[in-house]
Amino acid sequence: MTEYSQGSVADAYDILVDGEWVSADSGERFAVYDPSTGEELTQVARGRETDIEHAIEAAVAAEDGWRRMAVDERSQLLYEIAQALRDHEDELAEIETLDTGKPLGTGRSHAQTCARYFEYYAGIADKVYGDSIPLSDEYVDFTVREPLGVTAQVIPWNGPLSVFGRSVAPALATGNVCIVKPAEQAPLSPLVAARVIDDHLPDGVLNVVPGFGTEAGAPLVEHDAVDGIGFTGSVPTGKAIATAAAENLTPHYLELGGKSPNVVFPDADLDNAVENAVKGFTAVTGQVCSAGSRLLLHEDIHDEFLDRLVDEVDSLTVDSGIDDPDVGPLVSEEQFEKVQRYVEVGRKEAGEPVVGGSALDRPGYFFEPTIFDGVDNDMRIAQEEIFGPVLSVITFADEQEAIEIANDVDYGLVAGIFTENVQRALRFSKEVAAGQIYINEWFAGGIETPFGGYKDSGYGREKGLEAIDEYTQVKNVCANIGTDWPR
Ligand code: NAP
Ligand code: MG
Repeated sequence: MTEYSQGSVADAYDILVDGEWVSADSGERFAVYDPSTGEELTQVARGRETDIEHAIEAAVAAEDGWRRMAVDERSQLLYEIAQALRDHEDELAEIETLDTGKPLGTGRSHAQTCARYFEYYAGIADKVYGDSIPLSDEYVDFTVREPLGVTAQVIPWNGPLSVFGRSVAPALATGNVCIVKPAEQAPLSPLVAARVIDDHLPDGVLNVVPGFGTEAGAPLVEHDAVDGIGFTGSVPTGKAIATAAAENLTPHYLELGGKSPNVVFPDADLDNAVENAVKGFTAVTGQVCSAGSRLLLHEDIHDEFLDRLVDEVDSLTVDSGIDDPDVGPLVSEEQFEKVQRYVEVGRKEAGEPVVGGSALDRPGYFFEPTIFDGVDNDMRIAQEEIFGPVLSVITFADEQEAIEIANDVDYGLVAGIFTENVQRALRFSKEVAAGQIYINEWFAGGIETPFGGYKDSGYGREKGLEAIDEYTQVKNVCANIGTDWPR
């Protein structure tokens, strides 16, 4: 174990304000738990309104210098940050795993993804172009993209490192300053990432205030000095943030989860489809906004596919994240109880699950990967986001019905199809209302591809070049150069 994960660097878990690691104003701390044991891992500063106030003052003071810095210099700093994150990949992976419970291999890939975001947006910092717009001879017109200013990133517990990278990197690259509020359930990896990179940034450009949603998150998003908000999390909190943003007319984007359909046709490569269906609902113990939590099987392959799926799921290892199993624990007691409640709802709605259905008899928040068959799309287990390793299997007869079922849900984050028929796959991509369509691979795409929701899955796009739009505003410059000039 590294010094970070042992918590021996106690001030790693303080508040980062104006380039200093400080205690909460109140001196209070809160406990952070290891979901693999239920035991306390360490304690973290409990930020509240006055701590947010200090972070905002620091950000406001740093804003002008950061936005005016030469772009090549800003880009260079972000490359250095990417390298620093890579140099600390081991401890970042380990801390992400200890705090969230995810398998160490997944923690490692999230640490790499975080570094990659900084690298990708470092390369974009000096390419944030405007347009030149043709008008009549009398005018010269062009646009410039300017930063929003002070931006807030409210981060969830399921992917703290990757969401830290995907929100902070484009914000900094485009000349914004940041105040990050990590989730109370898993604040450690964003704090360690900030510790790794803070020396590369001018004071106040990146501030991190851990604490609770109501105590630190709310005063942050409600503050009128905040010029932009990025949020990933639940629908109710998303609505609270949109309401707070409306009060100050603060631009914001929301990424709010899903109940995504994974549709398998008989002509698919079934080995590949089984493997992806398993990954789709068990990765990060199903606690992923883009999980494939509704599996739509064509009636002709339903029985065979389900048998193979159950065999695969039976063979999965469920263990402490640090031992790199296939599936780790759920993040918290609250999430563990929520999943158990939903599995009871599933039993009432669809009968006994065909595999799984129980918590593991050991300390920690372990729950077996669970599959309900014979699910009707109207059932709660087909409509509501469970955020656990629970799959609802629904049967369909033809393409039309598959598309109807896929769309018959409030969410619209992702949708996947497995088929060898390219026309069918592309028809599906046109007909299904979702922000991303996966064809023959669940979780296809990368940091380069835009990500965000249709319908109740939110609005705005992260990742790729689209994130630049979220973190900049367009200014049009129109000059009347007169008509009286030599031609
Ligand atoms: P959540 O409340 O939406 O938490 C997300 C972030 O928002 C956390 O940092 C949270 O802080 C903060 N927050 C909470 N209330 C706030 C407020 N009024 N103003 C500003 N920030 C606020 O999610 P959760 O309660 O942890 O999880 C509940 C459910 O949300 C899950 O079961 C899952 O269905 C869904 N979820 C979705 C995603 C996703 O990727 N789309 C991620 C996480 C959860 P604290 O955590 O410190 O309170
Ligand atoms: Mg919460």
